[in-house]
Parts: sequence; C-alpha cells; structure tokens
Amino acid sequence: MFIKQEIEVMQRLSKIGASVAILLASLGLSSEAAERSALDGVLDRIVEQESGMLAELMQHKPLVETYLQSVRPDVAGIQQPVSDRYFIGRLDASEAKGKGELVDLYQYSVTANPDGFARMLTLDAASFDRKNYRFEFVRREFLGEVRTLVFDVMPNKVKGGKPGRFTGRIWVDDSEYHIVRYNGLYGSIFSTNLHFDSWRINAGPGVWLPAYVYTEEPDRPGGDPKIKHLGQTRIWGYDVGERAFDQAFAKVLIDAPLTHDESEQPGQVSPVESFRAWEQEAEDNVVRRMERAGMLAPAGGINEVLETVVANLEVTNDLEIYPPVRVRVLLTTPLESFSIGHTLVLSRGLIDVLPDEASLAMVLAHELGHVVSGHRLDTKYAFSDQMLVDDKSMLDHFMLARDDEEERQADLKALELLQNSPYKDQLANAGLFLKTLDARDEKLATLLQPHFGNRVGTREQMARWKPIIDAAPALDAQALNQIAALPLGGRVKVDPWSARTELMKTGSIAPLSAREKMPFQITPLMPYLMRFKQANDSATDAVTENNTEETSAPDLHAEAR
Ligand SMILES: [Zn+2]
Repeated sequence: MFIKQEIEVMQRLSKIGASVAILLASLGLSSEAAERSALDGVLDRIVEQESGMLAELMQHKPLVETYLQSVRPDVAGIQQPVSDRYFIGRLDASEAKGKGELVDLYQYSVTANPDGFARMLTLDAASFDRKNYRFEFVRREFLGEVRTLVFDVMPNKVKGGKPGRFTGRIWVDDSEYHIVRYNGLYGSIFSTNLHFDSWRINAGPGVWLPAYVYTEEPDRPGGDPKIKHLGQTRIWGYDVGERAFDQAFAKVLIDAPLTHDESEQPGQVSPVESFRAWEQEAEDNVVRRMERAGMLAPAGGINEVLETVVANLEVTNDLEIYPPVRVRVLLTTPLESFSIGHTLVLSRGLIDVLPDEASLAMVLAHELGHVVSGHRLDTKYAFSDQMLVDDKSMLDHFMLARDDEEERQADLKALELLQNSPYKDQLANAGLFLKTLDARDEKLATLLQPHFGNRVGTREQMARWKPIIDAAPALDAQALNQIAALPLGGRVKVDPWSARTELMKTGSIAPLSAREKMPFQITPLMPYLMRFKQANDSATDAVTENNTEETSAPDLHAEAR
C-alpha cells in the first residue's frame, strides 16, 4: 500500500538532495529496504492515479481525430506522401469499461481500426496494475516545465493473462504521480507493429487528460520496406457540449439582469433591418451549434489575428461591412474554408500549412469575396428546430458549400481585393503554395476533402488564380529559401480542454535540408507540457497580448526569406 511518509522521504531525498544516510538513519531503516518501499509507494500511487484518470475521462466526450499519411522517400531521399486516411469521432470512455470507444462521426476511406486509436488514449485501461506489469526506474527528466520520473514498463507473464499488453516507457510528474506521457506499443493487438507516443495535458488541478498521439508503423510484412505509415491523433473539446453550456447558463442567472439598450430607437423595425436580423439569427445559430459540437473554436485566441488580416483587406478596399466580418477556426485537419453569413471559417489544418500572412490573406479574400458578392446563408437556419440535431446529422445537414457560379465570383473578387491590398506584392509564397497543392492533390485525397465547405485549390480555382501562380517563381523542392507549405501542426495550438486556439510561439526555424521542409506532412508532436494555471491568469495574458497596436499579424509573417 501507498505510505505517505515514505513518499515524503523520497521527495526530500530527490528535491533537497540531503544525505541519504542521515535520513535513513533517522527512520531506522536500512538504505536498500527504504528505497524499495519508497519506490513501491510511488508505483502504487501511479497505478491509483491512472485509474483516477480513467474515471475522469468517462465524464467527458471529447472529439478524437486521426489523420494518417503513408510516406516514401523519393530519389532525392525526401519523404513524399503516397496516400492518406482520415477519421473523426467522439470518444465515449464510459462504454466498454473505459477502454474507449469512438462513436463514428464522419468516415472517409478508413481501413485502420479507429477503436485501435482510441485504445492508445489510455494505458491498457482494463489491467494497468502491478500484478500485470513490472517497472524499472530510468531517470529524471523535464518535459516542458514539468519535472518527471521516467520508468520502463514491461508486462508480467501472468497465468491466463490476455495478449495486447503495453511495453514501453512512462513519464510521471514527480509531485502527484500522474502519467503525462507514454510511448511504446501494444503486443499483438494489431496485426502490425504500431508504435505510439501519447501525451496528456494538465487540464485542471490534479487532472491530466489525453491530448495527442503520434504513431509510426512500417508497411505490412511483405510490403514496401521504404513505406512508413505516420499518424497524428488529436483530442479536444473536453469542456464543450452540454456541460459547458449548462455552466454558462448558471452564470447568466447569477449575473446582472438583462438591461434594455436605452440608445435604441423605439418604434417599428424597417423591412431591411428585419431581414438583416433574420439572417444574423441564422448565422449565430449555425456558429453556436458548431461551437457546441466542438468543431469551431470559441471566440478569441487566433481569431483576432485572422480578423486583423481581414481588416487590412477591408480598409484598403474601402469596405464597410455591417454586421462586421468575424473569423472562426474549424478545429479539424482537412484543408478547407467557408463562410457562414459574415463569419469566415478556416480550418486549423489550412492555417497550419499556409506559408505566410499574404497566403492567409489570399484564402480570406476568397471568403470575403462571398460576403461582398452577397452570397447568402440559407435562412432556414434561423428556425431553432434546425439546430436540434445530433452532431453526426449536423455534419451531414449543414450545407455550407457554394455552387460553381458563387465560387467563380468569389475567386475573381478575391483577386480584385488582393490587388488593392498591402499583400499585392507579397503573393509569391501564395503562388508557390498553390503550385505545391496542385502537385500533390491525388496523394492527399482525404486532407483535401472538406467537412463543410469547398475544396481549396480546385482545378477551376487554379485556372482563375493563374495571375497569382504565374507571378510566383518556379517550384524548387530542393531550395531551402522556398517554403511553399508548412508541415501540419506547426502553427495553431489548440487547448484540448477548452478548444481555444493560440498561435504557437516556436519562432521560425529554417530547414537544414530539403528533408526538413515537409510540406503538408505529419511530424511527431512534442508538446511543451505546462502545469495547470487558474483561468484568471490566462485571461489576463490574453488581454495584454491582444492590446498590441500592430495592424499586421506579426507571427504569421513569411518564415522563408
Ligand atoms: Zn468559396
């Protein structure tokens, strides 16, 4: 059993670095026996915390998204994608005794077992204990700002033990003994050798929850030995959905009563005003519903950076749009953009791979083109019953894609808007981005398959945006000063708990070789772990960051020079 006193001894030994002999003598224990029982205490605590994590996980239904890419080196030794697969679902850990089960939301050409990916979110949930596993202390290590103890973990041979045990390494925070990272593989549960590296975040006091999993797997036996199957699994939206909205309601009841705006003119509303209000209601309904499903990031965060770019386009084109244009982030990986009335939406994956601010402006100019051309959102969404559908129906039901004619108008409008904007002479990378996209569109079929909107870089769009493409230099995969598209996951940081977004503060690291350019590719995720801070602290941070007087989006400037 876990003995508090012994843990304290171990902590004192490690933290203060006090003489082992003195401490042990004061306890009247032989050094070896004391170390053993302190270790026992720690291991018991780890197992106990892990089952606590599982109980917490059962309280939530986060979204889980897996994007898989198969890559193969080309003649120059540069990894190139050859195919991809995609899956998004909602985790329900309360089913299947905490093993985690994915409720299918939307499925493309998935041949991998999605529940297999769900399984990597927990560490052998059904039987992670000291009877089934043995542990060997390796070292201490910092992961981000979190101090950890590292253990190797191996399954014991237990009579009647089931196959599929975990073999690998765990990182445990050294104050409460939560597992914060683990990597290795499950024996014989998959027909192949799927290795995974799984990370958790400190979502609240004493709560660590799954956030990212990176996977790597060689091709099946007898397959192509040069092919590797890479995968990124992301989990987010623990605190969205009914639970979060119930809390918001409770807050409304406590807050001051609704006051009437005195400046409002009394009397009748004109037909134009009613029409606008009706459209606004449809827009707000759709935005709120998608936010509630965990698909759209809440207001704030990176949205404001994107709105700065839109403002630059508006000001230089003498546009005064009412109601004002907003930008939101769709939290999924596939590259897409669309507009919901005056709300422009870009996917996280798209923002990740766009090389610079001007290329972002290009995509936003297209969506702004829809707004300026008067392309509408179907006002049927102003009726509330349209919103009372489950998440899966919502994905099928929201028709936000535009027809060919509207797409044509928006593309042409975008060229016009860009021409008058400060981005006019900075579109070289945007052109390179389109060329790279064009070169890869067959290999990245699911990455380019939108959930809601229109595909980026269709053949028709490429033809219409020929002026941008023609103005860009020739594509050179070897040139280190040419960054046409970034790897996935390098730009937008999503808080798995709240689904809020922020720009990653990684600074730009120039690639050393063409191998490191990795356009549109999956890379290992190594999040910088931080301890949970009270919400008030981060709110203050956000305010100070947003108060900058900059009119450009500094963090989105060209990374290639
Ligand atoms: Zn469009």
